[in-house]
Amino acid sequence: LRELVVVTGASSGLGLQTAKVLARTGKYFVVMACRDVEKAKRVAQENGFPEGSYVTMKLELGNLKSVRDFVANLKAFKSARPLNHLICNAAVYRPTDPVPAWTDDGFEMSMGVNHLGHFLLLNLLVDDMAKAKNARCCVVGSITGNTNTVGGGLVYPFADLGDLQGFEKGGKEPVSMADGKPFFGAKAYKDSKVCNMMTVSELHRKYHDDTGIVFSSMYPGCIAETALFREKRTWFRKVFPAFMKYVTGGYVSEEEAGERLAQVIDDEKCTKSGVYWSWNGGAKTVGRWSPDGKPRGAGGSGGEIFENEYSNAVSDEKTAQMMWDYSKKMVGLS
Ligand code: NDP
Repeated sequence: LRELVVVTGASSGLGLQTAKVLARTGKYFVVMACRDVEKAKRVAQENGFPEGSYVTMKLELGNLKSVRDFVANLKAFKSARPLNHLICNAAVYRPTDPVPAWTDDGFEMSMGVNHLGHFLLLNLLVDDMAKAKNARCCVVGSITGNTNTVGGGLVYPFADLGDLQGFEKGGKEPVSMADGKPFFGAKAYKDSKVCNMMTVSELHRKYHDDTGIVFSSMYPGCIAETALFREKRTWFRKVFPAFMKYVTGGYVSEEEAGERLAQVIDDEKCTKSGVYWSWNGGAKTVGRWSPDGKPRGAGGSGGEIFENEYSNAVSDEKTAQMMWDYSKKMVGLS
Protein backbone atom coordinates (compact mmCIF):
# COMPACT_ATOMS: atom_id res chain seq x y z
CA LEU A 1 0.00 0.00 0.00
CA ARG A 2 1.33 3.46 -0.89
CA GLU A 3 2.14 5.87 1.93
CA LEU A 4 -0.19 8.85 2.07
CA VAL A 5 1.46 12.25 1.76
CA VAL A 6 -0.27 15.64 1.76
CA VAL A 7 1.51 18.44 -0.13
CA THR A 8 0.09 21.95 0.24
CA GLY A 9 0.51 24.28 -2.73
CA ALA A 10 1.17 21.33 -5.03
CA SER A 11 -0.14 23.19 -8.07
CA SER A 12 3.01 25.18 -8.81
CA GLY A 13 6.74 25.59 -8.23
CA LEU A 14 8.41 23.58 -5.48
CA GLY A 15 5.22 21.86 -4.33
CA LEU A 16 4.37 20.64 -7.83
CA GLN A 17 7.86 19.24 -8.45
CA THR A 18 7.90 17.54 -5.04
CA ALA A 19 4.48 16.00 -5.61
CA LYS A 20 5.60 14.80 -9.04
CA VAL A 21 8.74 13.13 -7.70
CA LEU A 22 6.85 11.41 -4.88
CA ALA A 23 3.96 10.28 -7.10
CA ARG A 24 6.37 8.74 -9.62
CA THR A 25 8.26 6.64 -7.08
CA GLY A 26 5.30 4.26 -6.74
CA LYS A 27 5.82 4.38 -2.99
CA TYR A 28 3.61 7.38 -2.21
CA PHE A 29 0.03 8.44 -2.86
CA VAL A 30 -0.03 12.22 -3.05
CA VAL A 31 -2.88 14.40 -1.84
CA MET A 32 -2.43 17.69 -3.71
CA ALA A 33 -3.92 20.22 -1.28
CA CYS A 34 -4.57 23.28 -3.43
CA ARG A 35 -6.61 26.47 -3.48
CA ASP A 36 -7.46 25.96 -7.16
CA VAL A 37 -8.44 22.33 -7.70
CA GLU A 38 -8.99 22.72 -11.46
CA LYS A 39 -5.47 24.08 -11.86
CA ALA A 40 -4.10 21.22 -9.73
CA LYS A 41 -5.85 18.64 -11.92
CA ARG A 42 -4.53 20.30 -15.06
CA VAL A 43 -0.89 20.55 -13.95
CA ALA A 44 -0.91 16.97 -12.64
CA GLN A 45 -1.92 15.82 -16.13
CA GLU A 46 0.49 18.13 -17.90
CA ASN A 47 3.30 16.84 -15.71
CA GLY A 48 2.49 13.20 -16.31
CA PHE A 49 1.53 12.18 -12.79
CA PRO A 50 0.77 8.44 -13.07
CA GLU A 51 -2.89 7.38 -12.80
CA GLY A 52 -3.76 6.28 -9.31
CA SER A 53 -0.82 8.07 -7.70
CA TYR A 54 -2.60 11.23 -6.59
CA VAL A 55 -5.81 13.05 -5.78
CA THR A 56 -6.57 16.79 -5.68
CA MET A 57 -8.35 18.38 -2.73
CA LYS A 58 -9.44 21.92 -2.01
CA LEU A 59 -7.41 23.80 0.61
CA GLU A 60 -7.59 27.61 0.91
CA LEU A 61 -5.09 28.47 3.60
CA GLY A 62 -6.40 32.02 3.87
CA ASN A 63 -9.65 30.70 5.31
CA LEU A 64 -9.60 28.74 8.58
CA LYS A 65 -12.92 27.07 7.83
CA SER A 66 -11.47 25.77 4.56
CA VAL A 67 -8.56 24.28 6.57
CA ARG A 68 -11.02 22.50 8.85
CA ASP A 69 -13.09 21.33 5.86
CA PHE A 70 -9.94 20.00 4.19
CA VAL A 71 -9.09 17.93 7.28
CA ALA A 72 -12.63 16.53 7.38
CA ASN A 73 -12.50 15.68 3.65
CA LEU A 74 -9.09 14.09 4.02
CA LYS A 75 -10.28 11.93 6.89
CA ALA A 76 -13.35 10.84 4.92
CA PHE A 77 -11.21 10.06 1.88
CA LYS A 78 -8.62 7.95 3.65
CA SER A 79 -11.11 6.53 6.21
CA ALA A 80 -9.22 4.74 9.00
CA ARG A 81 -5.79 4.89 7.37
CA PRO A 82 -3.50 7.30 9.16
CA LEU A 83 -1.74 10.08 7.29
CA ASN A 84 1.92 9.14 6.86
CA HIS A 85 3.47 12.43 5.81
CA LEU A 86 2.64 16.12 5.61
CA ILE A 87 4.48 18.76 3.61
CA CYS A 88 3.53 22.37 4.35
CA ASN A 89 4.85 24.14 1.28
CA ALA A 90 2.28 26.71 0.07
CA ALA A 91 3.12 30.38 0.51
CA VAL A 92 2.57 33.87 -0.78
CA TYR A 93 5.19 36.58 -1.03
CA ARG A 94 3.93 40.15 -1.52
CA PRO A 95 6.96 42.43 -1.26
CA THR A 96 5.57 45.26 -3.36
CA ASP A 97 2.15 45.66 -1.74
CA PRO A 98 1.91 49.21 -0.39
CA VAL A 99 -0.90 48.21 1.96
CA PRO A 100 -1.72 44.85 3.49
CA ALA A 101 -4.12 42.35 1.93
CA TRP A 102 -6.23 40.36 4.38
CA THR A 103 -7.33 36.74 4.59
CA ASP A 104 -11.01 35.88 4.93
CA ASP A 105 -10.47 35.77 8.69
CA GLY A 106 -8.86 39.21 8.74
CA PHE A 107 -5.18 38.29 9.12
CA GLU A 108 -2.43 39.90 7.05
CA MET A 109 -2.14 37.69 3.95
CA SER A 110 1.46 36.35 4.24
CA MET A 111 1.15 35.57 7.93
CA GLY A 112 -2.37 34.20 7.51
CA VAL A 113 -1.60 31.87 4.59
CA ASN A 114 2.02 30.88 5.23
CA HIS A 115 1.85 30.49 8.99
CA LEU A 116 -1.63 30.53 10.54
CA GLY A 117 -3.36 28.31 7.95
CA HIS A 118 -0.55 25.75 8.23
CA PHE A 119 -0.43 26.10 12.02
CA LEU A 120 -4.08 25.04 12.25
CA LEU A 121 -3.59 22.26 9.70
CA LEU A 122 -0.60 20.86 11.60
CA ASN A 123 -2.41 20.93 14.91
CA LEU A 124 -5.46 19.21 13.45
CA LEU A 125 -3.39 16.42 11.87
CA VAL A 126 -0.81 15.59 14.56
CA ASP A 127 -2.98 13.02 16.38
CA ASP A 128 -3.78 11.26 13.15
CA MET A 129 -0.13 11.13 12.03
CA ALA A 130 0.84 9.78 15.44
CA LYS A 131 -0.93 6.55 14.43
CA ALA A 132 1.30 6.08 11.37
CA LYS A 133 4.66 4.34 11.44
CA ASN A 134 7.68 6.50 10.59
CA ALA A 135 5.57 9.60 9.97
CA ARG A 136 7.38 12.67 8.72
CA CYS A 137 6.27 16.27 8.60
CA CYS A 138 8.20 19.03 6.84
CA VAL A 139 7.39 22.74 6.82
CA VAL A 140 9.29 24.64 4.13
CA GLY A 141 11.38 27.41 5.65
CA SER A 142 13.58 30.10 4.22
CA ILE A 143 16.64 32.10 5.00
CA THR A 144 15.62 34.63 7.56
CA GLY A 145 18.92 36.12 8.55
CA ASN A 146 21.26 33.13 8.74
CA THR A 147 24.46 33.80 6.89
CA ASN A 148 25.55 30.14 6.95
CA THR A 149 23.53 29.30 3.85
CA VAL A 150 24.56 30.06 0.30
CA GLY A 151 22.47 33.05 -0.75
CA GLY A 152 22.25 34.18 2.85
CA GLY A 153 23.78 37.52 1.91
CA LEU A 154 20.53 38.63 0.31
CA VAL A 155 18.69 38.90 3.54
CA TYR A 156 17.31 42.42 3.87
CA PRO A 157 14.87 42.98 5.52
CA PHE A 158 15.50 40.86 8.58
CA ALA A 159 12.69 38.92 10.15
CA ASP A 160 11.90 40.20 13.61
CA LEU A 161 8.87 39.21 15.65
CA GLY A 162 9.72 41.71 18.39
CA ASP A 163 7.73 40.78 21.48
CA LEU A 164 4.79 39.75 19.31
CA GLN A 165 2.86 42.88 20.21
CA GLY A 166 0.75 42.47 17.03
CA PHE A 167 -0.13 38.85 17.85
CA GLU A 168 -0.95 39.87 21.40
CA LYS A 169 -3.58 42.24 20.00
CA GLY A 170 -5.12 39.34 18.04
CA GLY A 171 -3.21 40.00 14.80
CA LYS A 172 -6.29 41.02 12.84
CA GLU A 173 -7.07 44.03 10.64
CA PRO A 174 -5.89 46.76 11.16
CA VAL A 175 -2.96 45.02 12.92
CA SER A 176 -0.77 43.74 10.08
CA MET A 177 2.65 42.86 11.50
CA ALA A 178 3.57 40.32 14.18
CA ASP A 179 5.52 42.99 16.06
CA GLY A 180 2.64 45.47 15.77
CA LYS A 181 4.68 47.89 13.61
CA PRO A 182 3.55 49.42 10.28
CA PHE A 183 3.10 47.10 7.28
CA PHE A 184 6.19 46.01 5.35
CA GLY A 185 5.39 43.28 2.83
CA ALA A 186 8.83 41.73 2.39
CA LYS A 187 9.27 41.54 6.15
CA ALA A 188 5.80 40.08 6.67
CA TYR A 189 6.87 37.15 4.46
CA LYS A 190 10.09 36.62 6.42
CA ASP A 191 8.25 36.88 9.73
CA SER A 192 5.81 34.22 8.55
CA LYS A 193 8.71 31.96 7.60
CA VAL A 194 10.26 32.43 11.05
CA CYS A 195 6.92 31.37 12.51
CA ASN A 196 6.93 28.31 10.20
CA MET A 197 10.37 27.26 11.46
CA MET A 198 9.55 28.02 15.09
CA THR A 199 6.42 25.91 14.72
CA VAL A 200 8.60 22.98 13.67
CA SER A 201 10.85 23.42 16.71
CA GLU A 202 7.82 23.59 18.99
CA LEU A 203 6.16 20.56 17.38
CA HIS A 204 9.41 18.68 17.88
CA ARG A 205 9.66 19.69 21.54
CA LYS A 206 6.01 18.97 22.27
CA TYR A 207 5.27 15.88 20.21
CA HIS A 208 8.32 14.04 18.90
CA ASP A 209 9.08 11.88 21.95
CA ASP A 210 5.47 10.81 22.44
CA THR A 211 4.46 10.33 18.82
CA GLY A 212 7.68 9.44 16.98
CA ILE A 213 6.75 11.88 14.21
CA VAL A 214 9.83 13.36 12.57
CA PHE A 215 9.39 17.13 12.30
CA SER A 216 11.70 19.14 10.08
CA SER A 217 12.11 22.32 8.14
CA MET A 218 14.21 22.88 5.05
CA TYR A 219 15.58 25.59 2.81
CA PRO A 220 15.51 24.36 -0.78
CA GLY A 221 17.95 26.94 -2.19
CA CYS A 222 16.89 29.88 -4.28
CA ILE A 223 14.39 28.66 -6.86
CA ALA A 224 14.52 31.92 -8.74
CA GLU A 225 12.04 30.97 -11.44
CA THR A 226 8.92 30.06 -9.44
CA ALA A 227 5.71 32.05 -9.39
CA LEU A 228 6.62 33.18 -5.86
CA PHE A 229 8.30 36.13 -7.50
CA ARG A 230 5.27 36.92 -9.67
CA GLU A 231 4.90 40.36 -8.17
CA LYS A 232 8.45 41.40 -8.97
CA ARG A 233 9.08 43.49 -12.07
CA THR A 234 9.95 41.79 -15.37
CA TRP A 235 13.60 42.88 -15.35
CA PHE A 236 13.99 41.37 -11.89
CA ARG A 237 12.53 38.07 -12.97
CA LYS A 238 15.02 37.97 -15.87
CA VAL A 239 18.10 39.01 -13.94
CA PHE A 240 17.46 37.28 -10.62
CA PRO A 241 17.91 33.64 -11.77
CA ALA A 242 21.18 34.52 -13.50
CA PHE A 243 22.36 36.47 -10.47
CA MET A 244 21.63 33.56 -8.15
CA LYS A 245 23.26 31.12 -10.57
CA TYR A 246 26.47 32.92 -11.40
CA VAL A 247 27.04 35.34 -8.55
CA THR A 248 25.83 33.77 -5.30
CA GLY A 249 25.76 30.09 -6.37
CA GLY A 250 22.52 29.65 -4.44
CA TYR A 251 20.39 28.94 -7.50
CA VAL A 252 18.52 25.67 -7.76
CA SER A 253 16.13 24.54 -10.51
CA GLU A 254 12.50 23.81 -9.66
CA GLU A 255 13.07 20.13 -10.46
CA GLU A 256 16.04 19.77 -8.18
CA ALA A 257 14.39 21.73 -5.38
CA GLY A 258 11.48 19.28 -5.67
CA GLU A 259 13.89 16.39 -5.30
CA ARG A 260 15.39 18.02 -2.23
CA LEU A 261 12.04 18.34 -0.51
CA ALA A 262 11.08 14.80 -1.53
CA GLN A 263 14.40 13.61 -0.08
CA VAL A 264 13.44 14.99 3.34
CA ILE A 265 10.38 12.70 3.29
CA ASP A 266 12.02 9.67 1.68
CA ASP A 267 15.70 9.47 2.60
CA GLU A 268 16.92 7.31 5.51
CA LYS A 269 19.35 10.15 6.25
CA CYS A 270 16.43 12.37 7.23
CA THR A 271 14.92 10.41 10.12
CA LYS A 272 16.18 12.85 12.75
CA SER A 273 13.54 15.20 14.15
CA GLY A 274 13.89 18.92 14.83
CA VAL A 275 16.33 19.50 11.97
CA TYR A 276 16.54 22.40 9.50
CA TRP A 277 17.88 20.80 6.30
CA SER A 278 19.87 22.68 3.72
CA TRP A 279 22.09 21.79 0.75
CA ASN A 280 25.46 23.28 0.18
CA GLY A 281 24.86 24.61 -3.32
CA GLY A 282 26.42 22.33 -5.90
CA ALA A 283 23.13 21.99 -7.78
CA LYS A 284 23.37 19.38 -10.50
CA THR A 285 21.24 18.38 -13.42
CA VAL A 286 21.22 14.65 -12.72
CA GLY A 287 18.69 13.95 -10.02
CA ARG A 288 18.26 11.53 -7.16
CA TRP A 289 15.43 9.85 -9.05
CA SER A 290 15.29 9.12 -12.76
CA PRO A 291 12.24 10.46 -14.64
CA ASP A 292 10.49 7.08 -14.36
CA GLY A 293 10.64 7.39 -10.58
CA LYS A 294 13.48 4.90 -9.99
CA PRO A 295 16.01 5.93 -7.36
CA ARG A 296 19.50 6.54 -8.72
CA GLY A 297 21.11 6.20 -5.32
CA ALA A 298 23.30 8.65 -3.50
CA GLY A 299 25.51 9.24 -6.53
CA GLY A 300 22.73 11.01 -8.41
CA SER A 301 21.86 13.72 -6.00
CA GLY A 302 23.12 17.23 -6.50
CA GLY A 303 24.22 19.40 -3.58
CA GLU A 304 25.08 17.75 -0.29
CA ILE A 305 22.38 17.75 2.36
CA PHE A 306 23.39 19.02 5.80
CA GLU A 307 21.85 19.96 9.14
CA ASN A 308 21.79 23.73 9.08
CA GLU A 309 21.54 25.99 12.09
CA TYR A 310 18.61 28.28 12.62
CA SER A 311 19.21 32.01 12.74
CA ASN A 312 18.95 33.67 16.15
CA ALA A 313 15.49 34.95 15.21
CA VAL A 314 14.26 31.36 14.91
CA SER A 315 16.06 29.66 17.79
CA ASP A 316 14.72 32.00 20.48
CA GLU A 317 12.66 29.52 22.56
CA LYS A 318 10.89 32.13 24.66
CA THR A 319 9.50 33.90 21.62
CA ALA A 320 8.67 30.55 20.01
CA GLN A 321 6.57 29.57 23.01
CA MET A 322 4.76 32.93 22.92
CA MET A 323 4.26 32.59 19.17
CA TRP A 324 2.73 29.13 19.73
CA ASP A 325 0.33 30.32 22.42
CA TYR A 326 -0.83 33.40 20.50
CA SER A 327 -1.19 31.42 17.26
CA LYS A 328 -3.43 28.90 19.02
CA LYS A 329 -5.71 31.72 20.11
CA MET A 330 -5.67 33.34 16.67
CA VAL A 331 -6.78 30.13 14.91
CA GLY A 332 -9.37 29.32 17.55
CA LEU A 333 -7.65 26.37 19.22
CA SER A 334 -7.63 27.90 22.70
P1 NDP B 1 4.94 29.29 -5.91
O1 NDP B 1 4.27 30.61 -5.89
O2 NDP B 1 5.30 28.68 -7.22
O3 NDP B 1 4.06 28.23 -5.11
C1 NDP B 1 3.30 28.56 -4.00
C2 NDP B 1 2.11 27.62 -3.90
O4 NDP B 1 1.29 28.04 -2.79
C3 NDP B 1 1.22 27.64 -5.14
O5 NDP B 1 0.83 26.33 -5.45
C4 NDP B 1 0.02 28.45 -4.69
O6 NDP B 1 -1.19 28.09 -5.34
C5 NDP B 1 -0.05 28.07 -3.21
N1 NDP B 1 -0.84 29.04 -2.45
C6 NDP B 1 -0.71 30.38 -2.43
N2 NDP B 1 -1.66 30.94 -1.65
C7 NDP B 1 -2.42 29.92 -1.19
C8 NDP B 1 -3.57 29.87 -0.37
N3 NDP B 1 -4.14 30.99 0.10
N4 NDP B 1 -4.10 28.66 -0.06
C9 NDP B 1 -3.54 27.55 -0.57
N5 NDP B 1 -2.46 27.53 -1.36
C10 NDP B 1 -1.90 28.71 -1.67
O7 NDP B 1 6.23 29.47 -5.01
P2 NDP B 1 7.43 28.47 -4.62
O8 NDP B 1 7.23 27.14 -5.21
O9 NDP B 1 8.68 29.19 -4.86
O10 NDP B 1 7.24 28.40 -3.04
C11 NDP B 1 7.05 27.19 -2.36
C12 NDP B 1 7.67 27.27 -0.99
O11 NDP B 1 9.08 27.46 -1.08
C13 NDP B 1 7.16 28.43 -0.13
O12 NDP B 1 6.97 27.96 1.19
C14 NDP B 1 8.29 29.43 -0.17
O13 NDP B 1 8.30 30.24 0.97
C15 NDP B 1 9.46 28.49 -0.21
N6 NDP B 1 10.71 29.06 -0.68
C16 NDP B 1 10.86 29.45 -1.98
C17 NDP B 1 12.07 29.96 -2.40
C18 NDP B 1 12.27 30.40 -3.80
O14 NDP B 1 13.38 30.82 -4.10
N7 NDP B 1 11.29 30.34 -4.67
C19 NDP B 1 13.22 30.07 -1.49
C20 NDP B 1 12.93 29.62 -0.15
C21 NDP B 1 11.74 29.12 0.21
P3 NDP B 1 -1.46 28.46 -6.89
O15 NDP B 1 -0.80 27.34 -7.67
O16 NDP B 1 -2.95 28.41 -6.98
O17 NDP B 1 -0.84 29.79 -7.17
